[in-house]
Amino acid sequence: MSADKLVDFDEVLTRYEPVIGLETHVELGTASKMFCGCSTTFGAEPNTQTCPVCLGLPGSLPVANEIGIESTIRIGLALGCRIATWSRFARKNYFYPDIPKGFQTTQYDEPLCTAGHLDVEVDGETYRVEIERVHLEEDTGKNLHVGGATGRIHGADHSLIDYNRAGIPLVEIVTRPIPGTGAKAPEVAKAYVTELREILLALGVSEVRMEQGNLRSDVNVSLASIGSLEWGTRTETKNVNSLRSVERAVRFEMRRQAAVLDEGGRILQETRHFHEDSGTTSPGRSKEEATDYRYFPEPDLVPVAPDEDWVAKLAATLPELPAARRVRLSDEWGISPTEMAWLVNAGAVELVSDTVAAGASPADARKWWLGELARRANDSGVELAELAVTPAQVAEIVGLVAAGTVNDQLARQALDGVLAGEGSPAQVIEARGLAVMGESDELVAAVDAAIEGNPDVAGKVRAGKVQAIGALVGAVMKTTRGKADAATVKRMLEERLIPS
Ligand SMILES: [Zn+2]
Repeated sequence: MSADKLVDFDEVLTRYEPVIGLETHVELGTASKMFCGCSTTFGAEPNTQTCPVCLGLPGSLPVANEIGIESTIRIGLALGCRIATWSRFARKNYFYPDIPKGFQTTQYDEPLCTAGHLDVEVDGETYRVEIERVHLEEDTGKNLHVGGATGRIHGADHSLIDYNRAGIPLVEIVTRPIPGTGAKAPEVAKAYVTELREILLALGVSEVRMEQGNLRSDVNVSLASIGSLEWGTRTETKNVNSLRSVERAVRFEMRRQAAVLDEGGRILQETRHFHEDSGTTSPGRSKEEATDYRYFPEPDLVPVAPDEDWVAKLAATLPELPAARRVRLSDEWGISPTEMAWLVNAGAVELVSDTVAAGASPADARKWWLGELARRANDSGVELAELAVTPAQVAEIVGLVAAGTVNDQLARQALDGVLAGEGSPAQVIEARGLAVMGESDELVAAVDAAIEGNPDVAGKVRAGKVQAIGALVGAVMKTTRGKADAATVKRMLEERLIPS
């Protein structure tokens, strides 16, 4: 759909150096909105969670939500920020239908947290992302453009507005420009948002469901000619709402901007939209001229002055952060940083951890999640965590294999049943008759039948060609439809064919 000329990604790097930057918005998971008592529950009927404050009616007065402020400070602390001792809200004035007050309550020159950093790892290399600021603001309402093909205002015949989201606390986390990532720029951007999301989850401050828009990133990209001391003009791709899209947006902008620059063109400072379907961006709003929002301190809210004791208490009660947790788990599970990175990339750290907690060995838990289950998730195009099997059920399967109730092959069939919603592993094994056969009459008969039916092979084994026994084991496994234990079958055949 994009008519943009693109340069091959590898070729971009021969002439240009990318600089990226990310502005990430996180909706906090507070029960009520930032400046009023309205509920923040997602998915309610439009405009049922509003009041005079969040609708901006004259005479209404906001009151700041303490949990919102506390959560912002905790995010700042987790990112190693300096916490302000004095901070104010500001009015950012702009008239837009989803801003009922005519201004957004945000923070301007006095944010709560500044000067932090987050280290992210890509292919064994660590990149330090400097955090410029973390500030608190309110979310806008949601526009719904009806009648157009794309859901955008262009081509729509009317628009509806839902103010349920207006006033939900929103934390904005802004990085400083990140130079020096070269060919890894797309991966570093993705790794940063991934790690940030993990931290927010560990803090429990947001549900960070990207598909619900709890977390969305504006992705800034510019290119500088290699050797040039001057950075290029950046574009800002707005509201990218999946981890994969963050990576794709950086990659696409690098390729597009390189083509423009190659032809002697100029990159326009503008916002751009990302298109999930095509992985392309298209122009949004021009930022060639700085918009004057006429910020001024919010007169209706008292300044926030977090005292030292409060901040120290919040710092002391931070949970173990994901990076430290990964180091500890690598140690406990006896795996290398590279092996841990595979688990992280597969989104399997929590799943393996929960499976181990449910009784499986770390090696077995990793084997199942990174092997059989990763393959199935991949086949059905879903995330591992979305598979219809719980860590406890995986641990149960591991236990049943260890107890000899099922072998690996039968365990995979049991897993099929669990994924198909047939119940717990034990229930599926019972219902489908998957348990390994003991030394039953049925198995004795199958062994004898294999010897009778393959006299040539049996003769060879009797004559001392012991390795030929494999064919007989195979025959028994076939008649028992894989339910026999191969080692038991081999021993039974040996007892009959090889004189001791
Ligand atoms: Zn309200």
